[in-house]
Amino acid sequence: MTFTTRFAPSPTGPLHLGHAYSALLAHDMADAAGGRFLLRIEDTDSGRARPHWETQIYDDLRWLGLTWETPVLRQSEHLAYYAAVLDHLAQKGLVYPCSCRRSDIRAALSAPQEGVPGPTVYPGTCRGRAMSSRQPGDALRLNMSAALKCLTMPLTFRDSGQVHPGTHEITATHLLSRTGDLVLGRKEIETPAYVLAAVIDDARQGITHVIRGADLFDTTAVQTLLQALLGLPIPHYYHHGLIRDENGKRLAKRNDARAIAKYRADGTSPAEIRAMLGLKAK
Ligand code: GLU
Repeated sequence: MTFTTRFAPSPTGPLHLGHAYSALLAHDMADAAGGRFLLRIEDTDSGRARPHWETQIYDDLRWLGLTWETPVLRQSEHLAYYAAVLDHLAQKGLVYPCSCRRSDIRAALSAPQEGVPGPTVYPGTCRGRAMSSRQPGDALRLNMSAALKCLTMPLTFRDSGQVHPGTHEITATHLLSRTGDLVLGRKEIETPAYVLAAVIDDARQGITHVIRGADLFDTTAVQTLLQALLGLPIPHYYHHGLIRDENGKRLAKRNDARAIAKYRADGTSPAEIRAMLGLKAK
């Protein structure tokens, strides 16, 4: 199987040094393996995604010296596809509509209830609702215990990154107590949650290696569950260490000082960015 990896930014702000690290590392690893490097634009959050951020992603990555295959998969152009997958899960009785707001969930969690698996997971208020009762503005949640009944547990995924190397086992207990009934379809009709869209596209694009920051390590358990549920291959993971600011905090999109565009404007060279990130010169 050809080594195939991707960089999958959301165009909701400027790319920063941490993004540059992910993209360059994935590109270098694909190069070294004689494999493929794909770019995917994860722009399903229409409230936050902006065309100018997408344009800046292309400009920043080109400036860093990266090339990628075209056409680029832009998730907003494939909403019907994700909706069909959600529909498939609904037909199996694995998702239900949910109208709870954050405040409802907080209130339900603060009252002790029998059968509530953990302190932070969704308490299941809408779990009994039929799909036919979905109203505009309702999210779609996975019925985690029903999903687990369809699978042979535990599931495993492999990680060869610096932070969590090894084979990781995902148990039903972990998913019930830490993840619970997660949102797979957002309240905007036809809008998939990131976890689902990414899993669907990693499979459609034949991604063999997911190279990304360790901040997404916990998400991998959920994504492995979705892969198993949908009968999709489980890729190999490589979660790399995070680039931090001088106070040790993870860089966020609002850290404009570390934006690639800022380095470009200040006259830093792509080779200096590589050196700063501890990557080999090209
Ligand atoms: N779109 C996600 C982000 O920008 C990345 C998801 C991934 O690499 O799986 O954080």
